[in-house]
Amino acid sequence: MKNEDVSMELLRVLVGFDTTSYKSNLGLIEFIQSYLTKYGIKSTLVHDESGKKANLYATIGRTDIGGVMLSGHTDVVPVKGQNWDTDPFCLTEVDDKLYGRGSADMKGFIALVLSRVPAMISTELNKPIHLAFSYDEEIGCVGVKRLLDLMEHQPVKPHCCIIGEPTSMEVVIGHKGKCSRRVQVRGHACHSGQAPFGVNAVDYAAELIVYIRQLAREKAKNGPFDKDYEVPYTTLHTGTVNGGTALNIVPNLCQFDFEIRHLYEEDPQYLLDKIKSYARDNLQVEMNSISAETGIDFETLATYPGLLTDPSSEFVFYIKQLLDNDAHSKVIFGTEGGLFQQRLGIPTLVCGPGSIDQAHKPNEYLSLEQLKKGGQFLDSLITSLTD
Ligand SMILES: [Zn+2]
Repeated sequence: MKNEDVSMELLRVLVGFDTTSYKSNLGLIEFIQSYLTKYGIKSTLVHDESGKKANLYATIGRTDIGGVMLSGHTDVVPVKGQNWDTDPFCLTEVDDKLYGRGSADMKGFIALVLSRVPAMISTELNKPIHLAFSYDEEIGCVGVKRLLDLMEHQPVKPHCCIIGEPTSMEVVIGHKGKCSRRVQVRGHACHSGQAPFGVNAVDYAAELIVYIRQLAREKAKNGPFDKDYEVPYTTLHTGTVNGGTALNIVPNLCQFDFEIRHLYEEDPQYLLDKIKSYARDNLQVEMNSISAETGIDFETLATYPGLLTDPSSEFVFYIKQLLDNDAHSKVIFGTEGGLFQQRLGIPTLVCGPGSIDQAHKPNEYLSLEQLKKGGQFLDSLITSLTD
């Protein structure tokens, strides 16, 4: 079978596992593990607390020195509420495009990597190739943290890492970091005719949301700025609000979610601190003066750091050479790359087949042209590691 056919068949198998983040990814991970075993490659699984999800880590070649890590997440975003023309979990080829959930984000890359395993073991690799496949990336880079705990204690770490998120096979050297929080405003209910005797949770939530909006305006005006981004500054935004039951009741509960997407060089903690002190000093004091049981609580939803790799580094130059393309950019989406860079000090860039424009949407697809391009890149990478 041709390489393209092998990778397409592997992609068909991977898409067939419904690994939506809230489900188990074990079927897929065990498939990859037994695939690797067939080629004599040992792999380590790092499970979550429930034992229903796992990361996989493997090294192909020498184990005494670090090599290139190829990394990807195995979970996909939900298809619920999306209008698909084909079965999202059955890879379907139409007009040179492979349709299926995860085809671009990012089972296409994983399929390509697996398709090149025979080539990796049949050549004498001077430097090893490490495989790192995670779970729960789509819900805020949660799963990979357990893999990092394991890798942190390994005597030999990868020299560099390529995350195969869909970039149309262009080199991406940076993205913003993100932290998201859930806020619970606990008020005090009463008849709306007695509104001043109650604590209106919706009103206080609204005040805090407006404060977050003010911070967002300040960031847009004063920066810092990074012109490489479509939105060149740190953004704050509230995405959902829920509160109240009836117009004639002063609401005792309001919940909202907000996020900060920050430039690599900006620490979001001071923004979080400002929001928390505003809630405590300006709102909660007033709320408590009416009822002591009221308050505002913050819960962490997700936190991951931004990524920034020096575009003039040897690593970026090396990958650009393999791609025969000197361009690089920064992207609006996040990856696990910032964690590899920050926690393990591994230079990381993002480069993978397919386009982010198709990711997370109905009728997600990977073009055959991108599959081919991704395969050619891996072939050049393997050759470069045998020199
Ligand atoms: Zn992704």
